[in-house]
Amino acid sequence: MSETQINFIRHKIDADLAKKLHKSIQTRFPPEPNGYLHIGHAKSVCLNFGLARDYNGKCNLRFDDTNPTKEDAEFIKSIKADIEWLGFKWDGEAQYSSNYFDKFYDYALELINKNLAYVCFLTTEQTREYRGTLKQAGKNSPHRDSSITENLELFNKMKNGEFAAGECVLRAKIDMSNSFICLRDPALFRILFEPHHQTGDAWKIYPMYDFAHPISDAIEGITHSLCTLEFQDNRRLYDWILEHLDDFNKPNRPHQYEFSRLNLEWTLMSKRQLQILVEQNLVSGWDDPRMPTISGLRRRGYTPASIRDFADRIGISKVDSTTDMKILEDTLRDDLNAKAPRSMAVIDPIKVVIENYPPEQIESLSAPVHPQNEAMGKREILFSKELFIDRADFAEDPPNNKFKRLAIGKEVRLRNAYVILATTFDTDFDGNITTVYATYDPETLGKNPADGRKVKGVIHFVEASKALEAEFRIYERLFTLENPGKNEHFEQLINPKSLVITSGVVEPNMANAPPEQAYQFEREGYFCRDNQPSDGLIFNKTVALRDTWSS
Ligand code: ATP
Ligand code: MG
Repeated sequence: MSETQINFIRHKIDADLAKKLHKSIQTRFPPEPNGYLHIGHAKSVCLNFGLARDYNGKCNLRFDDTNPTKEDAEFIKSIKADIEWLGFKWDGEAQYSSNYFDKFYDYALELINKNLAYVCFLTTEQTREYRGTLKQAGKNSPHRDSSITENLELFNKMKNGEFAAGECVLRAKIDMSNSFICLRDPALFRILFEPHHQTGDAWKIYPMYDFAHPISDAIEGITHSLCTLEFQDNRRLYDWILEHLDDFNKPNRPHQYEFSRLNLEWTLMSKRQLQILVEQNLVSGWDDPRMPTISGLRRRGYTPASIRDFADRIGISKVDSTTDMKILEDTLRDDLNAKAPRSMAVIDPIKVVIENYPPEQIESLSAPVHPQNEAMGKREILFSKELFIDRADFAEDPPNNKFKRLAIGKEVRLRNAYVILATTFDTDFDGNITTVYATYDPETLGKNPADGRKVKGVIHFVEASKALEAEFRIYERLFTLENPGKNEHFEQLINPKSLVITSGVVEPNMANAPPEQAYQFEREGYFCRDNQPSDGLIFNKTVALRDTWSS
C-alpha cells in the first residue's frame, strides 16, 4: 500500500480494532438520490468501499431520501449502476433512510420524553434572530419550556397534519449560547405536505438530515461514518443525538470523521449545478462525455481502474484544495497506455494515390496489437494504391526543414508499412488539397532504405477501399474558466470548442469495436466507441496522447 493510502482514517480504524472496540468495521456510502454521481462521489465511494474491502468489513449503500421533494427512480438506478461499474458491491440490499421514518419518529418521542426536545412556533425569521451569531449568544425560544405533555401533544398534531407547513418545528433542547451554532437548539423535524417516493402520503413531517443521519448510521451498525469537511461542526450534534438515545449511547456507537472533498479544475462538482446543464440542454444529458459524472466519464472512455487509481493518488486528507485535471488524465493515460489495443484512424482525411503501386491489388500487412506487449498478438493492416492520411500530415509549404511529415519531394514512412515520396497534389475550387500523388519504395517494408537515405517522419494512414467512415467527437474542457462553480452564471461559460465533430475513417475491423472499449488510434489519441445506439460508427476521444508526436 502506498504512503498516501495510509491516511488518518486508517490509523483510527487500526486503533479501534486494536482496542477491540469493534469486531470488524462497517462503512456506508449515503447518496441523496437527486442526480447522477460525479467524480467527487467516486472519491467517497472508493474510500468507503475500499476500507470495507481492505479490512474485511462491510459497506452499505444507503439512499439518503429523507427529503421528499427531490428523489427520482432514475437517479437511484444510475447510482447503483455507477457503483457497480466502479467495481464495488454494497452489503446486502440497498438501504433507504425512508425505511426508518417510524424509528426517527420514536426517537424524537424519546427526546421529548426526556425533556430534550420541544415544538417551537417561531417564524423562520424569528428563529434566525434568536439563534445569535458567532460573536453573540442566542436566546431561548418562548416555547422552550413547554411541558413534556404539551410537547407530546403538539408533536402528535404535527404528525397528523394539523399545522400548516412551516408553522412549527420540533427542536432539540441543547444550549442557545453554545459556541457551535449547530448546537443552538437545532430543528429535528419539520412539516412538509409533500408525497414521498417510498412512503407516499403517510408522513406530513420529515426528519432533518442532522437528525436522520446519525440514527440511520446507528441502526445499521456503522462504525466509521465518513463525510466531507463541511460537516465538521455538525459532528457535535451527531454525537449529542446518539449520546442522548438509550439504544445508541455505547462506546461502539458510530463516530463521524471528516475528509476534504474533491474539487476539480475546469468543471463543476455539484449535482445541483450539473442538473442545470442538463435541464438547459447545454449538454446532451447526465452522461454527456464532457460531464464529470461517472456515466459521462464512462461514455468518454475512462476505465473503472483509472478512477480507482485516481482516488488513490489524490489520497485522503483534511486540507481543502483543487485538483489539477492533469492528475486525472495522467492516471487514465497510464492505464490506457498499458491496455489499449492500437489501431489507425484518420480524423480529417485527404487521399493519397501511390502511382507505382499495382491497381486492384490489396496487400495484407501485419502489425502488433500493442508494441510493448507481444502477448496481445498481431493485427492485419491493409495497403493498396489508394490510402487516406490526415490533412495535417501533408504540407504544401512546410513551415521549416524540421517538418517531419509529408511534402512534395520529401519522403515519409507510413506507419507499419512502406516509405513514400510525394510528387504532386490536386486541390478543389477553394484551394483545399484533395489528393496527394506519391510513389512508394517496395524495399522499405519493415526496413530502412538500402542506400542509406534517412527517413525521419512516420505518419499513419488507412487503406481507402475497405476503410469505414466514422464520426469522431473531439472533446475539450467544458468551461472556459478554471473555477466555473464559483461563478453565478457558470452556464454562460461553456467552452464553444468543448465538442468538435469530424468525419473520417477507421480500419475495417473497427466495425466490431465494442462500446466503451479503449483504443489507441496511433498518433491521434485514445478513443472509444460511443455507448449509445447509432446508425454509423461514432468514436469519442477519451484523452490525448502525451505530446511525444507533436513536431
Ligand atoms: P452534491 O452537492 O454534488 O449533491 P452532496 O454532498 O450533496 O454533493 P450526496 O449525495 O449527499 O451529495 O453525497 C454522498 C456522499 O458523497 C457524501 O458522503 C458526500 O460527502 C460525498 N461527496 C459528495 N461530493 C463529494 C466530493 N466532491 N468529494 C468527496 N466526497 C464527496
Ligand atoms: Mg446533497
